[in-house]
Amino acid sequence: MYDFTVIGAGVTGAGVARALSRYKADVCLIEKADDVSNGASKANSGIVHGGYAAKNGTLKGRLNVLGNRMFEDLNNNLNFGYRKTGGLVLAFDEEERLLLEGLLANGKKNGVKDLEIIKRDRILKLEPNLNPDVKYALYSKDVGVTSPYEYAIALAENAVTNGVDLFLEHEVYDIIKMDNSFELITDKSIIKAHTVINAAGVYSDAVSKMAGVNYFNIIPRKGQYILFQKGTGAAVKSVIFQVPTKNGKGILVTSTYHGNLMLGPNSEEVENREDTGTEEMTLEYIINTALKSLPDFDLKKKLKTFSGIRSTPNTGDFIIKEEFPGFINAAGIESPGLTSSPAVAEMIVNIIKKRINLEKKNSFNPNREPIIKPNSFDVAEIKRRIDLAPCDDRIVCRCEGVTEGEIRDALTRNIDISTKKAVKMRTRAGMGFCQGKFCGPRVDELIERIKII
Ligand SMILES: Cc1cc2nc3c(=O)[nH]c(=O)nc-3n(C[C@H](O)[C@H](O)[C@H](O)COP(=O)(O)OP(=O)(O)OC[C@H]3O[C@@H](n4cnc5c(N)ncnc54)[C@H](O)[C@@H]3O)c2cc1C
Repeated sequence: MYDFTVIGAGVTGAGVARALSRYKADVCLIEKADDVSNGASKANSGIVHGGYAAKNGTLKGRLNVLGNRMFEDLNNNLNFGYRKTGGLVLAFDEEERLLLEGLLANGKKNGVKDLEIIKRDRILKLEPNLNPDVKYALYSKDVGVTSPYEYAIALAENAVTNGVDLFLEHEVYDIIKMDNSFELITDKSIIKAHTVINAAGVYSDAVSKMAGVNYFNIIPRKGQYILFQKGTGAAVKSVIFQVPTKNGKGILVTSTYHGNLMLGPNSEEVENREDTGTEEMTLEYIINTALKSLPDFDLKKKLKTFSGIRSTPNTGDFIIKEEFPGFINAAGIESPGLTSSPAVAEMIVNIIKKRINLEKKNSFNPNREPIIKPNSFDVAEIKRRIDLAPCDDRIVCRCEGVTEGEIRDALTRNIDISTKKAVKMRTRAGMGFCQGKFCGPRVDELIERIKII
């Protein structure tokens, strides 16, 4: 019998599991996929938002600002990749300037610091490649970029280090309420717990209904992206937004944490919660809209397109509450859910503390070593290392300079993975120009060798 069971291993669930692993309690994390970070947490903009956009008075507004302030320390502990870049919301006329004034006022109410409206000369000094027609921008110094799936993986690894049991490939399909506990019926086993935390993302309404709580629905909203080759992200230093529309923050131009230019996302309601395809017409719209911010980028350097599904709740705000003793929803966590996630985890621990006495354990280890080690291999060094006999220094992925040692590290950590996709998310092998054509077979061979031993 677990004290706490968390359903869903995205940034919300993995964050809650890690936060609970600080205490003397038996905790498990249940995920239906064969790896953590399988939902929205693996396909989003990766922006650590400043907190000026989420409406004052909402949970989103409060938790965004709190979460933003926690990222630097978290990254120092967990080494997932985070960089404070600053962000600019561009305005091209007086009407748009009024929208910036609204964001500025909202941000100040939310407690965002370092927020100001700046004019064309300063904007172009900060970002010389932007459209020279820009007139004003809301400048938020607290905006940053992170590697979202590496963040979710780091949270989950550290939770496991601190005693959390992770059950992958366990889909919860029913929740039975007992006297003082719950039975979670999964496709593999029955898991018993005193308290259940629902962090099932786009399926959080379905999981909530399993426990008899059905006052909200999730509206899946797709966002599509175009990602460019490594190095192209140098075109901008900060995250470049346009003024928000009724569908959200609009099309942004950013560098990913790893230096790829990225454009997107749009926002469209979809019926199928697994619909992560991309469509030519939408991609064209994204390119044309992004050109207004950044008039010159090389489409020939396009690497791939992808999309993610937002868990938009019909209530308009995050749903974070104990619905009845022992059943806690962390549902409808759409954007800025990545940014808010550390604060969401803290909020859930505080909800639990109102009912249960949680005692801190001395053995909690907040730290996790990185998998990707920074390197500066030049072409000659990569060529030399590609031909080495199998050893940790051998280069396996020549586009991203990934070594055999990094892949061995990923495959032998405390989350049991054995797919190329899982290795790719942890090491970047296969994320480069050739998209895994060169390294794919080598990674397969390593998986076989390392996992069989
Ligand atoms: C296009 C897009 C752009 C975004 N950009 C940003 C951004 O820049 N900044 C920001 O702060 N936020 C952003 N967000 C929001 C952010 O990505 C999400 O809020 C966050 O990732 C939600 O995490 P989660 O853990 O709640 O959900 P998820 O990551 O979706 O995780 C839920 C998990 O639950 C599992 N699951 C579901 N049902 C079951 C079941 N029955 N049994 C077991 N497991 C189950 C799923 O497999 C999944 O792994 C964006 C989202 C999208 C889609």
